[in-house]
Amino acid sequence: MKVPILIPNIFDHPFTYESGNIDLKLGDYVLIPFGKTKITGVVWNEFEKETNKKFLLKKVILKLNVTPLNKNIINFLNWFSQYNLIPKGMALKLLLLSSKAIEDIELEELKKFDDKIKQKKFFLTEEQYKALKSLNKDINKFRVHVLQGTTGSGKTIVYFESVKTIIEKGLQCLIMLPEIGLTRQFEEKFREFFGFNPAIWHSGISKKNKRTIWNGISCGKIKVVIGARSSLFLPFKNLGLIIVDEEHDQSYKQDEGVIYNARDMAISRAHFQNIPINLITAVPSIETYKNIKSKKYKISKILNRFRNASLPNYEIIDLNKSKIYEKSWISQDVIEKVKEHLKKNDQVLFFLNRRGFAPFVFCKKCFKKYLCPNCSINLVYHKHNKNLLCHYCGYKGNLKRKCNDNNLCDFIFTGPGVERISEELKKIFPEQKHVIFSSDTMNKKDSSNILKKIVNNEISILVGTQLISKGFHFPNLNCIVVVDIDLSSQGHDLRGSEKNLQLYHQLSGRAGRTGKSATVYFQTYNLDKTMITDITNKNPNIFLEKELEIRKLNNLPPFQRFIALILSSSDEKKLQKNSFEFKNFIDAKLNCNVLGPVDAPIYRIRKKFRVRLLIRGKKNLSTQKSLFQSIKNFKFEKGIKLSVDVDPISFN
Ligand SMILES: [Zn+2]
Ligand SMILES: [Zn+2]
Repeated sequence: MKVPILIPNIFDHPFTYESGNIDLKLGDYVLIPFGKTKITGVVWNEFEKETNKKFLLKKVILKLNVTPLNKNIINFLNWFSQYNLIPKGMALKLLLLSSKAIEDIELEELKKFDDKIKQKKFFLTEEQYKALKSLNKDINKFRVHVLQGTTGSGKTIVYFESVKTIIEKGLQCLIMLPEIGLTRQFEEKFREFFGFNPAIWHSGISKKNKRTIWNGISCGKIKVVIGARSSLFLPFKNLGLIIVDEEHDQSYKQDEGVIYNARDMAISRAHFQNIPINLITAVPSIETYKNIKSKKYKISKILNRFRNASLPNYEIIDLNKSKIYEKSWISQDVIEKVKEHLKKNDQVLFFLNRRGFAPFVFCKKCFKKYLCPNCSINLVYHKHNKNLLCHYCGYKGNLKRKCNDNNLCDFIFTGPGVERISEELKKIFPEQKHVIFSSDTMNKKDSSNILKKIVNNEISILVGTQLISKGFHFPNLNCIVVVDIDLSSQGHDLRGSEKNLQLYHQLSGRAGRTGKSATVYFQTYNLDKTMITDITNKNPNIFLEKELEIRKLNNLPPFQRFIALILSSSDEKKLQKNSFEFKNFIDAKLNCNVLGPVDAPIYRIRKKFRVRLLIRGKKNLSTQKSLFQSIKNFKFEKGIKLSVDVDPISFN
């Protein structure tokens, strides 16, 4: 019998094989000869379109002893590939992890995921209970429910209860989180609630662990997965619920390699599998807010914080008036206020979204800046490691450079990064314990130790980047100083203001979580800031409403579909020529607006020049379908790479 078999590689169609005397059904994993190698494939639901080849079909070698892939997942992967303009084989590769399905089940290994619920009693407030009741409605079919709750209102406990309901029905559950590197606090909470270990899934876990978990999920033994973006492609045997925590978080966008938005894809996976999905947030994303308004999504709200703690107060520190010494970034007013907080034993956080010591380094004799040799971007000085670092490609340089007069350059460091703020704080508060909380310091092995110390209030001053806004619970943190709010408005981003609102809302949410009064201080030179008013407004819907109106007026997403096409090459001339030819080619074929080509704001990354095109079209699959077809028909010169970003977030 002829069977269509999809293999995990760059082909957009299955290949036809002969099954011989092996009995095969849809979704079976098989081993097949491909070229000179043997490879794993899956029996797919459609044949290759043109199969008039005369030569003999190759035979399937064997059927693998793995639970067959659910037909709804196959439908989802087909749709995923169409929506994101990704070859079907590449979509399958996301599910298979490698070119091999995982066959031998290690039963012993699976025992650590024993899932008998030994639950401690948790009491819900009336508000939480009401939210839970509506979350548990209509859980036998597809529906999207948004749980919107103030930061620190106990949303997690509520959706854990909804997860429990699903597990008790014998089904599996996927909980997605935006940042998984630092989820130990979350894991502990899970264990405390359910009394068993969840399976943790992200790119950093060991190969062996991946095999075990993949298997446990595919045979249905593992009941709950806590995962990053890639967990979306796990082959659940009987998935009953998906939860997307912090649904507004832009880290759900995978923007390298295969580009997709994991939150949006989770919603369509739930749709294809006809199961419920819960989106959890304090302030919904614009897309989600639009769907709530049009009643496509249901919503329940928790307005009160846990133990009736109130949200922090806000104070604006006008840097035009408050005294601030030269080469210093913290004003005298703030120092006085922080002293008061420290007296009360409050933990204090200084927030600045800049890693390293100084973002610009230049010589005061020759005025030359330090630029990355591979990217058109400044190198950032990291004093702790004594090097200059490119935050895009990871290039490392040192501070030695010859100047015009053949002596060494004489450097000036401009602007602050977290290391510089930390240095200043050590001088102001020498007797207090400090720690820098950024991806440079917190992704290391001893980070759980530091976290513990912060939770126990053994560290009184934190200096942090946006990493700290991601869902941490620090009970004594009652004072936050935003060192320079003006810095946040930079970036090449249509979602700049939404991003900032989310960031500062999440950040403020870290303060005052246990009932003590808390304050967030914003240092700024620019008092005419709608941003601050938007953040400090207790009702975030006012901002969302305004923002949605702007998007509608200007025909921006979520009212239109944007697709970004990024061409890159190390050959600048070839790239420029090709991008114009490509633009004219697709412009003639597509029934929508093609803007560009323009040089990308960061014109060069990793030695490759970059040019962008933007397509604005209707929100249906037809734009993607015709674009995919024309891309296939266009012959790029050698050395030109195209990446497609559907619903782009960053425009770098
Ligand atoms: Zn670089
Ligand atoms: Zn110089």
